[in-house]
Amino acid sequence: MSPSANLLTGKGYDFGTQGAHNIAKGGTHPHLIPQYNDQFQERKWRLEHAAGAFRVFARLGYSEGEAGHISIRDPVDPSTFFINPLGLHFAMIEAKDMVHVDEKGTILPDGNQAPINAAGFAIHSALQKARPDINAACHTHSVYGKAYSTFGRPLEMINQDACIFYNNQAVFKNFGGVAIEGDEGREIAEAAAGARTVILQNHGLLTMGSTVDEAAYLFTLMEKSCQVQLLANANVKEEKIIIPDDVAAYSAFVTNDPETMYASFQPEFGYQRRLDKDEFMWKEDKIEEK
Ligand SMILES: [Zn+2]
Repeated sequence: MSPSANLLTGKGYDFGTQGAHNIAKGGTHPHLIPQYNDQFQERKWRLEHAAGAFRVFARLGYSEGEAGHISIRDPVDPSTFFINPLGLHFAMIEAKDMVHVDEKGTILPDGNQAPINAAGFAIHSALQKARPDINAACHTHSVYGKAYSTFGRPLEMINQDACIFYNNQAVFKNFGGVAIEGDEGREIAEAAAGARTVILQNHGLLTMGSTVDEAAYLFTLMEKSCQVQLLANANVKEEKIIIPDDVAAYSAFVTNDPETMYASFQPEFGYQRRLDKDEFMWKEDKIEEK
């Protein structure tokens, strides 16, 4: 939580403090980010939530061939990260399937021994290096993100939900073909600056978060916001009303902090656990712990 900004909107709303308490009344929020003393336990938790995010992405139709990746920073060795194996459908990924890789691309022995997507490695390794404030990144070739990316423009503040992207989105315009090489990843990280969401022009969406849940929630919301923007843009007869800056800033302030973003993904994550009967969660007998 950050200290009160002591700012008021045009309607007199006090910015107050950030956090999930803003959306909980009558009790503590049921989905606060767990804290771990044991980094190996935290690793398992991150892997389970990454696997859950893949299952949600599959259910929402974000898969496209072998494209798409989610990476999570390893809390045990933060210079390394886990990413999905090449060629395994999002709907089949389990926590133990994630591949542990170092910054040179070496597949480390304590994760799944499988090749990874070269472009995915290039993008995620550059991001994980450039952004110590983030622990996870998501990128897929989802339909509406891909469609809206052709304009090379940020989302407009045309509804309350879109305000989460107020001062929190960037457009990467320099599409140079499939990002097999590391340079494109570094350029994307530079284009993002401090933002946690990036529209990759002529490509798709990329989101980041201090938890994979935050990155995944931002992804689902950005994809849906691209759909809404395309629908609104399709009505050329009427002028769109854009939310004023002070209102957009207030809405962003009370909703786009890491705690609230984490909480916002838990309904999808919990539903996925129910649907999949926890199939994607960690199973002790499936991997040797180092
Ligand atoms: Zn891609």
